[in-house]
Amino acid sequence: MNEPGYAHDCPHCRFLGRGRAAILDAKKTFDFYVCEGSGDRRSFIARYGNREDQYMSGPLLGTAELSHLDLVALYNGLELLPEENERLLAKLADMYRRRLGGVREYQKLSAGGEVSFGSGNYLFPNN
Ligand SMILES: [Zn+2]
Repeated sequence: MNEPGYAHDCPHCRFLGRGRAAILDAKKTFDFYVCEGSGDRRSFIARYGNREDQYMSGPLLGTAELSHLDLVALYNGLELLPEENERLLAKLADMYRRRLGGVREYQKLSAGGEVSFGSGNYLFPNN
């Protein structure tokens, strides 16, 4: 399944592979692309037909939550650029941070002494 099954004419797209992704649509077979010509962020594309509008796409790791397209890209092993890695890490940390409901875990994190071993602040990037 290493050939695209549908027409796709974006010159900036790199074909990744063809396959299924039930999280997107269990009944469809997709051609997956990463588009490298849409500004500073790459897009991930899942095409499911020849018609021009028969595709799903989104900026890779570009939304607040991990999108279904992001999950498909990650699950299938898309290699991330360094800045995409950073966005993924920040996103995962943010998802976890929002689960620190009763703040008890945060208090445990911040209690018991101060130590600083770097300049990254993924849990509280705006502090
Ligand atoms: Zn493209």
